Amino acid sequence: MAEANTAATAMPQGTGYFAADSSLPFKTPDFSAISEDDYMPAFEQGMAIQQAEIQAIIDNPAAPTFENTIVALEKSGRMLGRVARVFFALTGSNTTDRLDEINTEISPKLTAHGDSITLNPELFSRVKAVYDNRAAMSMTREDAKLLEDTYEGMVHAGALLTEAERERVKAINSELSTLTTEFSQAARAAMNDTPVFFDSRSDLAGLSENDIQSAADLAAENGQPGKFAIALQNTTQQPLLPTMENRAAREKLFMASYHRADGRMDVDTRMLIAKIATLRAQKAALFGEPDWASYAMWDRMAEKPETALGFMEQMVPALAATQRREAAMLNEAIAADGGDFEVKPWDWYRYANKIKAERYDLDEDAVMEYFVLDKVLEDGVFHMAEELYGLTFERRTDLPVYHPDVWTYTVFDRDGSELGLFYFDPFQRPSKRGGAWMSNFVDQSDLWGTSPVIYNVLNIPKAPEGEVQLVSFDWVNTTFHEFGHALHGFFANQKYESLSGTATARDFVEYPSQVHEMWATWPSVLSNYAKHYETGETIPDEMIAKIEAAAKFNQGYDFGEVVEAALLDMKWGALSPEEAAAIDTPEKVDAFERRSLEELGLEIDLVPPRYRSTYFNHIFSSPSGYSAGYYSYLWTEMLDRDSRKWFRENGGLTRENGDHYRATVLSQGGTMDYFKMFENFAGRAPDVTPMLEARGLVAGDEQADSEVSDGPLPPRTTN
Ligand SMILES: [Zn+2]
Repeated sequence: MAEANTAATAMPQGTGYFAADSSLPFKTPDFSAISEDDYMPAFEQGMAIQQAEIQAIIDNPAAPTFENTIVALEKSGRMLGRVARVFFALTGSNTTDRLDEINTEISPKLTAHGDSITLNPELFSRVKAVYDNRAAMSMTREDAKLLEDTYEGMVHAGALLTEAERERVKAINSELSTLTTEFSQAARAAMNDTPVFFDSRSDLAGLSENDIQSAADLAAENGQPGKFAIALQNTTQQPLLPTMENRAAREKLFMASYHRADGRMDVDTRMLIAKIATLRAQKAALFGEPDWASYAMWDRMAEKPETALGFMEQMVPALAATQRREAAMLNEAIAADGGDFEVKPWDWYRYANKIKAERYDLDEDAVMEYFVLDKVLEDGVFHMAEELYGLTFERRTDLPVYHPDVWTYTVFDRDGSELGLFYFDPFQRPSKRGGAWMSNFVDQSDLWGTSPVIYNVLNIPKAPEGEVQLVSFDWVNTTFHEFGHALHGFFANQKYESLSGTATARDFVEYPSQVHEMWATWPSVLSNYAKHYETGETIPDEMIAKIEAAAKFNQGYDFGEVVEAALLDMKWGALSPEEAAAIDTPEKVDAFERRSLEELGLEIDLVPPRYRSTYFNHIFSSPSGYSAGYYSYLWTEMLDRDSRKWFRENGGLTRENGDHYRATVLSQGGTMDYFKMFENFAGRAPDVTPMLEARGLVAGDEQADSEVSDGPLPPRTTN
């Protein structure tokens, strides 16, 4: 196809490291050749080049075609993508003050740059011309999906609206951006700026000497020497509560968390919430949608709020019963302990943990002695990948890395050919943000002829020099989880980067990763890697059984607080513009939240939501974020648990099963309907029962299933 050469001659050229693909194997970044001064000019040039590329698409005198419009758009922004991948990898895992400064400066520019493309009316008219002609075109399934996603993405941004409406959308976006930033800062201030003070050491009885010393230091730092202070953590429950013996002190700490940012102290986010909810409902109305959730869920697997709500509401009766049963059990434990009170949220984990310790007799330090990091990765995770998918791995030391603690491997496919590169960055350090995640330095794409270069980042506390690197069972699970994401990326088999590998819906992307956690405790995998660091003895079955049994304990709270938060999120997203606008005072925000939670039929006073509205960062601290999307953690768990059942019923860890999962799910990227993908794998629609069984929520079946749980939700990871 003849492209317009006149436009090409005017194309700006990039300079510096990011102007061209790396010459290293797999085009992996040459960290030895990148300096911090390279980023800003590369971002600026990358945006300018993409603008020129977009203009060239618009100016093309030829009629719009799939190639000269949709593929040309897909190909645009190559240099920008190259610098952004490296830059955002490093700001996450190995940042510096300079990188943080660049991030603050470049982020709003990148947002505006993106808007200038998705809301460009001339570009959209060409995209629409191709889209409207789609029935007459002969396309592969992947081409058709790229066309549909490109068109629908622009429509979702506002391309079909009138100019006046588009201006209103831009104004709402801008206001939402400001309000959500204010929310985020206020919620952080409510958490960080005012620790909870205690007058005497006896208030903190039960805490370790280290914790008490930290509390004394924090009080002194806050101008109250001689007192003690505890900083709040993100969630409603606070991690120190179970060890605090003084009940009044527990109540004080809990209430400070629960009433965070709700106006009892200096910070009050309630009117911000009301305004955000109203603007979101108004934006949805511009698109002809009844509410924000209906608008926001357009590209999700669940698609409609009713689907997500129905999915969660079916769990409520069993969950409510479990909450009541657990509360009764805790009240017995309190009475047996000589307590003369009924359990409250600030008592819950203290007594739940006591029962757990007695019932399961689980020593987490003893468990760790069986998990040595390099064995977990090479004899556990890699072994699982070989058994299931025929992959093999070779450590290499010739590639430059961004930190000496990063390990690199070549990954070989089942036919012995090179599949890609894997970077493993396991250790906690001050320059790394919390959590664990996976992403790509290079995406797989047939269009570019690229193979995946993938990294997993974790935050395992590093053992002192010379000591064996042991890891907790939780980190073992996370290592399998993150490698599940990596496999989703390695098995990508797409033409276009936009549809490649993990480029899938928010309520789908955690599914393949969660499934791979099941192999961490698969007997033949365990016996290959879980060996005592001194004796070499394999972890006893009995210890694994205890881990699995203990993981199912306390689901009324652990699971209940997540379900409640997810349902509260959906209630905020279900407001019409009129209903949202009627919530116009702080008291009405309180009343709406209270009513929404009461309607659920759960024990909300004993088990409050994991986040109350006033500090629910997932849904209020960015313009869209996880709003009408917090349910995703539960949704993917349903797919995960049902898939584990399929594997167990079909022979477990076999090449045949692995190849089937690879063919139907892991290699499909975002190229097809997610329900269809699941059906191709399992031969039927997803079923919620295995998840309810795993969570101990099937009536009368409390202890029947011995499968290990993933641990506390939400998952420790993002993609
Ligand atoms: Zn994940």
